[in-house]
Amino acid sequence: MSADLVLWRNARLVTLAGERDWGLVEAGALLTRGAQIEWAGALVDLHAEVPAALRARVAAEHDLGGALVTPGLVDCHTHLVYGGQRAREFELRLHGASYEDIARAGGGIRSTVAATRAASDDALFASAHQRALTLMREGMTTLEVKSGYGLALEHERRCLATARRLGNELPLTVRTTYLAAHAVPPEFDGRPDDYVDALCGWLPALNAEGLVDAVDAFCERIGFTPGQTRRVFEAARALGLPVKLHAEQLSDQGGAELAAQFGALSCDHLEHLSPLGEHAMRAAGTVAVLLPGAFYFLRDTQLPPVAALRQAGVPMALATDHNPGSSPALSLLLMLHMGCTLFRLTPEEALRGVTVNGALALGLTDRGRLVAGQRADFVAWELEHPNELAYWFGRNPCARVVFGGALRDA
Ligand SMILES: [Zn+2]
Repeated sequence: MSADLVLWRNARLVTLAGERDWGLVEAGALLTRGAQIEWAGALVDLHAEVPAALRARVAAEHDLGGALVTPGLVDCHTHLVYGGQRAREFELRLHGASYEDIARAGGGIRSTVAATRAASDDALFASAHQRALTLMREGMTTLEVKSGYGLALEHERRCLATARRLGNELPLTVRTTYLAAHAVPPEFDGRPDDYVDALCGWLPALNAEGLVDAVDAFCERIGFTPGQTRRVFEAARALGLPVKLHAEQLSDQGGAELAAQFGALSCDHLEHLSPLGEHAMRAAGTVAVLLPGAFYFLRDTQLPPVAALRQAGVPMALATDHNPGSSPALSLLLMLHMGCTLFRLTPEEALRGVTVNGALALGLTDRGRLVAGQRADFVAWELEHPNELAYWFGRNPCARVVFGGALRDA
């Protein structure tokens, strides 16, 4: 038999193996085969738990130096691919304009749409690549990227293809989400229903090109109505694509109930989520993706109902919502911190939110825990205890990142 296993020893594992607790394993080790974890546990148990024939196949060993090791981090909600940036708008808001004022005045998303359409493929890729590298330096190994700044077939295709290229050229996993229902483009001014018809019509071609893993919409007063959102979801369902929703960020539109009817992978934002929406999500197994970066940046005061979600047993994830308008955040660790300080998550909930539950929000059950059979994405941290991941801010304790069994220094 060939020697094809790798032993990673001298690690303090944060396995998240059960439904509760960190699943800490002192003096731990991981045995990986290719991109997969073959075994995880205390090194002293290796002989008893792993057959000799398998142990004989260990080709390489790495000493992790006693580092704390967690699953690789998942950023399950980003708008990473776009042209330009919106620091000027940030400045205007500090002179008193609101997010809605700016959107209604034709700024906001539309200015990024213009910059995205004007950017070359290589320029779009280069800026997104830099941002992805920044996230990876903090242990991010799986990244969701939404379209939604092209808003025309050709440009939505370019944005999704740019996201795919990131996944091909970097060691991380990229999941793409079609979010043409992000805003009404200038060509469809005053005709949102015609635009919804158009974007539903683009979906089969983009899906056939392998560019779409999920479909999302912005259901909001300044976005799309529940009726329009339903049509987008029906187009997705016709192709067997899972859906997600930007729901109840600025007002309660009943978006979560609608999304739950379609078995949505996640509802995201949820500051104005009602008890009805919460129960529908619970029944549908929909993940609540909380986005403290946007809450913070927009200086929102309406908190998402974290205690009720916890009580109902709705899985909670955290993400950067990286976008140029409302969350120019490039630190998933900062989101852990803010998830605790602003939303009152526990540090363990915050870590689950960027690992196992973040993966679930993308429909991925093959990662997020350090147990046999899971993907070998993991991070070595210069920390004593996993609660420090949420405690420090402005510090990057990431020492090494392993993507699918392959080591890469941070
Ligand atoms: Zn978003």
